[in-house]
Amino acid sequence: MKLEFFGAAAEVTGSCHILHVDGRKILLDCGMIQGSRKDEERNRDPFPFEASRIDAVVLSHAHLDHCGRLPLLVRRGFRGPVFAHQASCELTTILLADAAHLAERDAEYRSRKSGKRIKPLFTREDGENVIRQMQGRRYRKTFDVVPGVRVRFADAGHILGSCVVEVWAREGGDERKIVFSGDLGQYDTPILRDPDPIDEADVVLMESTYGGRNHRERSETIAELGNIFTAPRSRKGNILIPAFSIGRSQEILYQLGKHYDEWDLARYRVFLDSPMAIEASKVYWENHNLYDEEATRLRLENGGMPLLPNLTLSRRTEESMAINRIRSGAIVIAGSGMCNGGRIVHHLKRNLDREETQVLITGYQARGSLGRRLVNKEESVRIHGQTIPVKASVHTVGGLSAHGDQDDLARWYENIKNRPPVYLVHGEPDSQQAFADYLHRRNGAHVHQPTPGTVLDLAGL
Ligand SMILES: [Zn+2]
Repeated sequence: MKLEFFGAAAEVTGSCHILHVDGRKILLDCGMIQGSRKDEERNRDPFPFEASRIDAVVLSHAHLDHCGRLPLLVRRGFRGPVFAHQASCELTTILLADAAHLAERDAEYRSRKSGKRIKPLFTREDGENVIRQMQGRRYRKTFDVVPGVRVRFADAGHILGSCVVEVWAREGGDERKIVFSGDLGQYDTPILRDPDPIDEADVVLMESTYGGRNHRERSETIAELGNIFTAPRSRKGNILIPAFSIGRSQEILYQLGKHYDEWDLARYRVFLDSPMAIEASKVYWENHNLYDEEATRLRLENGGMPLLPNLTLSRRTEESMAINRIRSGAIVIAGSGMCNGGRIVHHLKRNLDREETQVLITGYQARGSLGRRLVNKEESVRIHGQTIPVKASVHTVGGLSAHGDQDDLARWYENIKNRPPVYLVHGEPDSQQAFADYLHRRNGAHVHQPTPGTVLDLAGL
């Protein structure tokens, strides 16, 4: 009985760990490596195992860095079940279709440029094959993964359907309980419930993305948003909000709905200008049984979701182009979240050179992205080969992270009464070290930082 760390060990993306129990192999996540072009090329590398020899996959949630290599796993011979929360199955369907479309387009572009035929990382068909192997489960119901391995999903409060995975593994007469945190949300995050407390574990695999710091207070963030929407100059132009399609877009719509009167939003028209975000929003609106108390109450008071009466869902390209002709009073939520591509780029191109434009940056912007250049207040940016002067006001609104911060992570761990050893995954080395020190100081916890290939003997715990 052992656990092998493979991806997202000492880095942030590409979550994947291998559980060996009684001759069977189970993957916890099979995520994509994300970052620079060079990092992402590593997604094409062979797995350090035979895909056909994996018996089952347990997926924590529908983000690409957790599920994005499932299409490759299936293409390379994996035929077993992929267990995930029911809502994750729905979101993964949307996500993989979009990722395959981007991969196909990227391969076409690179083939044209290089004169060589470059295959996409995976195709739409590969993605559809994954969906056929997925099996939806609910929170707090135990199920068998393979003989000798049982799993129960707890709410991780990170995105809709996100799970903390509790695993009971039996080999010979021995049983061990392994808890895999997946990605943990902030406490008091909108729409979603708080992470479920876990009682006990023999070992915990824990994410540590923001283990080294605390986020801004959410109330300050909301006040800042309110100031932007109510400022007289905001009315004179458009407000552009680049946002990730799953999670962030829905949270922004929810905040706008919740503060609709307070921020006098009837003066605006709100556009969700992203087919993928529209699909993901529907999954959010339909799965209202997963909401926290506040979202449940607001939904009932409103007679359903979304909470915004002035929301337009813009699917077709022509609809998106029509938004471009609006000179004032539009709030536009569109992808991509880092402004690397997608419809937001067209809106930025049209509006950045106007002083009355407001740009709200609500998520992490990677180095080299257009979003990062805006955050850095560069005087001009290049879009589609054109130099555009940046006269718009760019607001970086912190505090909306889908990840728990240092206090959240410690609070989650401290629910586990027996203070089990911790293996930190999914974090940059600096934040891992900071969190390891913090947790050890507070609880005397034994905290380890595995590297890819580290093997943990579970029987020896
Ligand atoms: Zn995530």
